[in-house]
Amino acid sequence: MHEVQAKSLLSRWNSMNVYRGCTHGCIYCDSRSACYQFSHRFEDIEVKVNAPDLLEQVLRSRREKCLINSGSMSDPYQPLEEELQLTRRCLELLWQYGFGAGVLTKSDLVLRDIDLLHAIHERAGAVVQLTLTCADDRLSGIIEPNVVPSSRRYEVLKAFQARHIPTVVWMDPILPFLTDNEKNVRTLLEWCADAGVYGIVTFGIGMTLREGSREYYYRALNRHFPGLARQYVEKYGDLYEVMSPQKEQLAKMVHEICEKYGIRDDPDTVLNFTHTLPERTQQLTLFDL
Ligand code: SF4
Repeated sequence: MHEVQAKSLLSRWNSMNVYRGCTHGCIYCDSRSACYQFSHRFEDIEVKVNAPDLLEQVLRSRREKCLINSGSMSDPYQPLEEELQLTRRCLELLWQYGFGAGVLTKSDLVLRDIDLLHAIHERAGAVVQLTLTCADDRLSGIIEPNVVPSSRRYEVLKAFQARHIPTVVWMDPILPFLTDNEKNVRTLLEWCADAGVYGIVTFGIGMTLREGSREYYYRALNRHFPGLARQYVEKYGDLYEVMSPQKEQLAKMVHEICEKYGIRDDPDTVLNFTHTLPERTQQLTLFDL
């Protein structure tokens, strides 16, 4: 890791990343694409040590409360967060200033902050977002090697359910010829139903590949699934959107299961939920906070 003093923190969509780079090692990672212009190794995490100061400046000056998300480009619960606690300090500020919080992670370290997220949810609103891509722990250990498998993330979802903190699951990406099968997708959705998630995000049934991420992905495929990278090259060439050959059948199944269990799967509805304070807080914001 290396430390930097960041110049700014919040994007115009009210999202922040206190870390840049990631050590979870997902073989399909889009954040390592060349377009993001990393000047350091992706695993050599850039730590924005002044992130809490920058966040506090913004929170102090904002008249209107909102929900601030963390985790769009880098998981806020990197292993080094256990010691550095930068994400936690930012969450404490959100609570202190009456703002809502969203976190997107694959790590069970988020459970460390369950009391804090509960307090934020009670005061303003919180939504915890977990990524689930693969119900088979052995395969999960190959495609997301340095973070807990989805079965553990399912337990994490249930822990938040028990505290009445809403959750959303990003079922994305679904990898062609690896995880794009009915059994996998159905199991993930059954976990979502059992854990009472508000909604899921799928972005179609597939993945994206571009310069930087494609080479990394194909190297991993060559190591673990000989011949599969060639299959991708033949089928998809240089396409950015790499959709599953089963995408229609699987999308239909996803929608039917979601309807059956009352899980929202309309992307606009779910993404809006992850970016908006609950109505009760919006009313409070107008009159009290
Ligand atoms: S958790 Fe996200 S940022 Fe980290 S390696 Fe996986 S896909 Fe990339």
